[in-house]
Amino acid sequence: MDFNLSSEDEAFRRELRDWLDANLPESERIPPVDFMFEENAEQWQRRLRWHKKMHAAGWVGISWPKEYGGRGASLIQQLIFAEEMSRACAPRLVNTMGIMMVGPTLIHWGTEEQKKRYVPKILSAEEIWSQGYSEPNSGSDVASLQTRAVEEGDYFIVNGSKVWTSDAQHADYCILLVRTDPSAPKHKGISYILVDMHSPGVTVRPLVQMTGASGFNQVFFEDVKVPKKNLIGEKNRGWDVAITTLMFERSGVGENRDLSATARELARLARQIEINGRSAWENSSVRQRIAQFATEAAALKHTVARQLTRRLRGQQPGPEGSITKLFASELNLRMNYFAMELLGPYGQLSYRAPGAIDEGKWSVRMLGSRALTIAGGTSEIMRNIIGDRVLRLPRD
Ligand SMILES: Cc1cc2nc3c(=O)[nH]c(=O)nc-3n(C[C@H](O)[C@H](O)[C@H](O)COP(=O)(O)OP(=O)(O)OC[C@H]3O[C@@H](n4cnc5c(N)ncnc54)[C@H](O)[C@@H]3O)c2cc1C
Repeated sequence: MDFNLSSEDEAFRRELRDWLDANLPESERIPPVDFMFEENAEQWQRRLRWHKKMHAAGWVGISWPKEYGGRGASLIQQLIFAEEMSRACAPRLVNTMGIMMVGPTLIHWGTEEQKKRYVPKILSAEEIWSQGYSEPNSGSDVASLQTRAVEEGDYFIVNGSKVWTSDAQHADYCILLVRTDPSAPKHKGISYILVDMHSPGVTVRPLVQMTGASGFNQVFFEDVKVPKKNLIGEKNRGWDVAITTLMFERSGVGENRDLSATARELARLARQIEINGRSAWENSSVRQRIAQFATEAAALKHTVARQLTRRLRGQQPGPEGSITKLFASELNLRMNYFAMELLGPYGQLSYRAPGAIDEGKWSVRMLGSRALTIAGGTSEIMRNIIGDRVLRLPRD
């Protein structure tokens, strides 16, 4: 990996920065890690409008091939994109799962007809996507899933339930893993289908996280008819497709996070807080902790860049995505815990409570950052994958 940017990449950065400066008013800028806050309908609509504005200017799905509505930008440029969005405190785009996981999976596995039908509307957010993998009794061991799909003429009839389904309350479609051969070994009898969330028999029930936000849901499927043409890949071979989606998910979770910004925020917070009558920033152990976080955030950034080398060679993301997923989510958690240490009793004040420092956002972040160590595969599972498939350690 060459860390020096080419003139083309520098020009890309300038173009994006100028566009953001011209199109993103100060009042719309929010730190990107604050997505664990409760979002009301008006805020969702605001993000949707922002997404459409970015899409109209060609800034959504930038690394996607041009023929599918992307910009054909290199992966280095995708990295620059994440940095600039974070630097500008730009609101998150909507349809994250569609853009990060579903689109790339369909581009890889879908038929031409499926790609033409679904992919463009992902970028434009005309259709919002969700991911139906986890079930009440199948999370880490997702291959043990029980949601059934039985063939009937030109349809699959789906029955079962999925849980922790993010954005299902907004979703028009869901990538759904279903068991189509209950007699086969668990990884072999699974199929990957696309389900219209407005179909009769689909019920979405919100679940509330400890932050108070209800961004995910339990979804029930009762005799839901899904056309067979919505099958991705081969019947009973859906596990291979599912893994492609997971690799895109895990590498994306790490990539989109510029934690240097959080280290800078911690430094600012330390200057605000007093310990024994003196600014916390004057305490060398506080400065050392923050310097350590800043160093780790820089290491993460370079590890992401190394991982991109593989994709620059035209390969799909591999198990190394687990390294950045694990490291980014755990570092984020540790930084938020440290903020609570700095805040001391002020950390107890809830969001926007009178007297709360930084509006009390750190406690919400601290609670919310635990979720990222679970979503997309828990830290324990990431460690298992790294041990097994990256380090090739013996199984026992
Ligand atoms: C914010 C958020 C959003 C999510 N969004 C989605 C979504 O959109 N779609 C979706 O399908 N799912 C989603 N999930 C679900 C997520 O993928 C699962 O929560 C995760 O895979 C863990 O599964 P589980 O909750 O069933 O825990 P379990 O698998 O029951 O694990 C419980 C504990 O046991 C540990 N454990 C389990 N197996 C092993 C093992 N082999 N070795 C060591 N330790 C082990 C785990 O690490 C964990 O600590 C989301 C989760 C969160 C938190």
